[in-house]
Amino acid sequence: MISNHPNRFTAEVLTAQSNYEKLIHLAIKFQPNAVVIADCVYYQKVTEALAPYSIKVFCGEESLCEVVRWKNVDLILNALVGFSGLSPTLSALSSGKPVALANKESLVAGGSLVMEAALLHNAPIFPVDSEHSAIFQCLAAQEGQIEKLILTASGGPFFRTPENELPFIQKEQALNHPSWKMGKKVTIDSATMMNKGLEVIEAHWLFGVPASKIDIIIHPQSIIHSMVQFVDGSVKAQMSHPDMRIPILYALSFPERLHLDTPRIQFDLLGNLAFFPLDTRRFPSISLAYTALEKGGNMPCFLNAANEVAVHAFLNDRLSFHHIPDLIEKSMLAASYIPYPTLADIVETNSQARLLAQNLLKTY
Ligand code: MG
Repeated sequence: MISNHPNRFTAEVLTAQSNYEKLIHLAIKFQPNAVVIADCVYYQKVTEALAPYSIKVFCGEESLCEVVRWKNVDLILNALVGFSGLSPTLSALSSGKPVALANKESLVAGGSLVMEAALLHNAPIFPVDSEHSAIFQCLAAQEGQIEKLILTASGGPFFRTPENELPFIQKEQALNHPSWKMGKKVTIDSATMMNKGLEVIEAHWLFGVPASKIDIIIHPQSIIHSMVQFVDGSVKAQMSHPDMRIPILYALSFPERLHLDTPRIQFDLLGNLAFFPLDTRRFPSISLAYTALEKGGNMPCFLNAANEVAVHAFLNDRLSFHHIPDLIEKSMLAASYIPYPTLADIVETNSQARLLAQNLLKTY
């Protein structure tokens, strides 16, 4: 984005969790004022590499919450992975900074707190998740009352896999997503379709629509990124080739659209757009997410934490693919429910849920 529109965007701060090599590379390229490496183990390496430049180096998750409040920062793009994205999101919004949000877990775990902070400090949230960007784009004209949101789902790599093969799915198969190239966590979430479940919760908070009015449809081509149905039966869809640069740039340039060198849709070559109903028996994670959203309170935070533990265990060969939703469901059944959680409650819920899921993990 910065290379495409250097007159429009500059990086004030760049951050990374542990990928210090990429952070160093990008820092030298874009010359930000500062960088943050969240994992302090790599602080020394980054400091040494950036010593010839006037780039400040910080480490630790606390620093992430600090830099988002800096005066020179106009907008924060939060693409952190998992629950750790919540505090920086809250910190940014609380200081009145707009947030381009790719970290859906911020909203899943702490939706009410995030929306409250945005409202209180008049700080907008621009969705980066492709489905939510699609809905945001469909709603840009601020027309009519919404009847329903329709989230499209590619179905992931196992949409057509025979059900009796699901228990034997290997890590390598699950990491091979048909339409999007993404990080490991979200790729596994896409394979279990928990990603779509988390996106339902995310959509609920972003657009103020209840669970009963958010549908999911399988659309394997990933050309339509989501739709809004209005009260007159009219449906708006946003389409493009699947390319994350589009929602990222829109979140950064809203309400403008800037030029982007993406492949254009050739409708004459496209043929049909295909849609299939969602089979929740095959993907029980979706039902768990709806249950968590309907229950509300700290339950989505619990769901998210148990899912993070389950995905991590699967990636480390500690849990089989079809046990992922099983572990999450058992964790949720044992959850201590808080209807109106504070930030302290959410942080506590996150730790408790992790502990509980870790203990349950021993039984598999
Ligand atoms: Mg998405």
